[in-house]
Amino acid sequence: MTNSLPEMAEIWQQTLNWQPSDHQQAQFQRLYHLILEGNRQLNLTRITDPQEFWEKHLWDSLRGIALKGEFITSLKEGASVIDIGTGAGFPGIPVTIIAPNCTITLMDSTRKKITFIETVLTELALTNAKTLVARAEEIGQQSKHRQAYDVALIRAVGTASVCAEYTLPLLKQGGLAIIYRGNWTEDETTGLENAVKQLGGVIEAIEKFTTPLSQSIRHCVYLRKVATTAVQFPRATGVPTQKPL
Ligand code: SAM
Repeated sequence: MTNSLPEMAEIWQQTLNWQPSDHQQAQFQRLYHLILEGNRQLNLTRITDPQEFWEKHLWDSLRGIALKGEFITSLKEGASVIDIGTGAGFPGIPVTIIAPNCTITLMDSTRKKITFIETVLTELALTNAKTLVARAEEIGQQSKHRQAYDVALIRAVGTASVCAEYTLPLLKQGGLAIIYRGNWTEDETTGLENAVKQLGGVIEAIEKFTTPLSQSIRHCVYLRKVATTAVQFPRATGVPTQKPL
């Protein structure tokens, strides 16, 4: 078969103290194929090389949920998780594969991407995920979603303060937002602190790491919700990006 994903068992073990089961490895492989196929009609991802896909989509998605190097400590048994702006399913689908006891909501404002994800969930027989076509600004004000999640994941959707405004209203008190970033600066921390305070959160940790194949720098910012978010947040659609906190 062409375009086989590498297994990378040793790297999984060394970096996350975890390895995929044969079944999970087969699901990763199937996911990769479905994305390559889907890419013919939809602009899902420019990352199609097998090694790059493994590193930038699979490994990166799972590294984010390994707070303090402890894989899945951020995901307790039965946790309710939302991936905001999941696109082609990252980081949400790899998390769905490795955390069968959690319920993952894969959310995006683009219907076409969610339709693709629904095919993937069926093909991979993943029953612990739900899909949602919506905007973060809208569901943050809906009682069904507001304060409903233990963990909110967000990668490549906006600046850190926008991500904070999208995630924190959706979290239960004590819940964790995981913001996936590339580079990060001290100035960004200062700006984010101000936004997070207004939204009822604190910055719990900022982790810097190097990706295992291309040695690229990444950061994950972990926000803990410590107080109820004020009713005015999130603000109306478009306002968080136009007037960041
Ligand atoms: N998270 C994926 C990843 O890292 O590969 C996709 C990132 S893509 C650059 C950004 C995605 O966020 C797009 O699919 C877009 O439709 C979605 N998005 C942007 N703003 C959004 C919002 N306010 N609510 C929901 N989805 C949003």
